[in-house]
Amino acid sequence: QANERESLYLVSEFANTYFQKILHKTDQGKSIGLSYFKERGFTEETVKKFDLGYSLDAWQAFTDEALKQGYNIDYLQKTGLTIVKEDKRFDRFKGRVMFPIKSMSGRVLGFGGRILTNDKKAAKYVNSPESDIYHKSNVLYGIYHAKQGIAKEDNCYLVEGYTDVIQFHQTGVKNVVSSSGTALTSEQIRLINRLTKNITVLFDGDAAGMRASLRGIDLILEQGMNVKVCTFPEGEDPDSFAKQNTLEELTLYLNENAKDFIQFKASVLFEESKNDPIKKADTVRDIVNSISKIPDRIKKEIYIQECARIMDISEEVLFSTLAQINKKEF
Ligand code: ATP
Ligand code: MN
Ligand code: MN
Ligand code: MN
Repeated sequence: QANERESLYLVSEFANTYFQKILHKTDQGKSIGLSYFKERGFTEETVKKFDLGYSLDAWQAFTDEALKQGYNIDYLQKTGLTIVKEDKRFDRFKGRVMFPIKSMSGRVLGFGGRILTNDKKAAKYVNSPESDIYHKSNVLYGIYHAKQGIAKEDNCYLVEGYTDVIQFHQTGVKNVVSSSGTALTSEQIRLINRLTKNITVLFDGDAAGMRASLRGIDLILEQGMNVKVCTFPEGEDPDSFAKQNTLEELTLYLNENAKDFIQFKASVLFEESKNDPIKKADTVRDIVNSISKIPDRIKKEIYIQECARIMDISEEVLFSTLAQINKKEF
């Protein structure tokens, strides 16, 4: 079993080297992949730092090369690098730019691959499937490059995508990781919790994404961590915002716009429900439910007082809602 995992690591490492070689040393890699990264504003140094690569637009160029180098088809299939259908073999990441996903210690676990066209029918990103070495719920993109920065700054920025992480680094903010589009999990939070107790969640500037993410944040509170949230202007995400700003401007924006999560959620909920008594009851339960996840009793009490003020409701109602929620849980 340990041997098999080692084989999966080795074939992933080979693929990582291969995709980089294609990007930097072939005509197709340079004219399509490398120019794509340049257009996005990534420097050569950034492309190298994150081991970015390119997978040729050919059905089995990668698979053929891997087999020629002696890698076993079983491991190519188990890592998902090769898709096997009956007697045919296909490269999963055909014609995509490649983002290797690394563990805390820098081992390649899997990949994300982005299409270069704006074809709405094809998935923008394709990721490696679950395998014995890649469990997406236990992985944070960028953790290998961010771990020192997180410890040093005693804070971790959590963003949505690969390119947000990369653009932040290039701008000079290095304490940043991404859950890569999947719902945040307790395991991912635990990885950060080993390095800092402070998380700042950065939302893409679209309301839909933010609403969906608010719930996942309760998992961070549960681990006794301090959570702030920060939004970006409509239509911007951390990548596009960082690209247009200097390190000083970005840092200033983050410092001025990061808000305490509970206070933020209370104001959002208040705005949504202030003219609607029935909705208001729901939002009270929603915010108190978040507060109930905080392990520290004193913090809980302070937040109840704060939310009573923000949502214009009595502390007694909030405390009795908290008592109800606690009763249900035990
Ligand atoms: P880009 O700037 O390259 O268009 P993004 O990172 O801003 O991409 P979002 O649409 O904000 O992309 O999505 C955030 C993250 O969600 C992506 O980085 C990726 O990890 C994941 N994701 C997005 N679309 C898909 C998809 N179709 N399939 C799987 N994962 C996806
Ligand atoms: Mn988004
Ligand atoms: Mn985005
Ligand atoms: Mn983006």
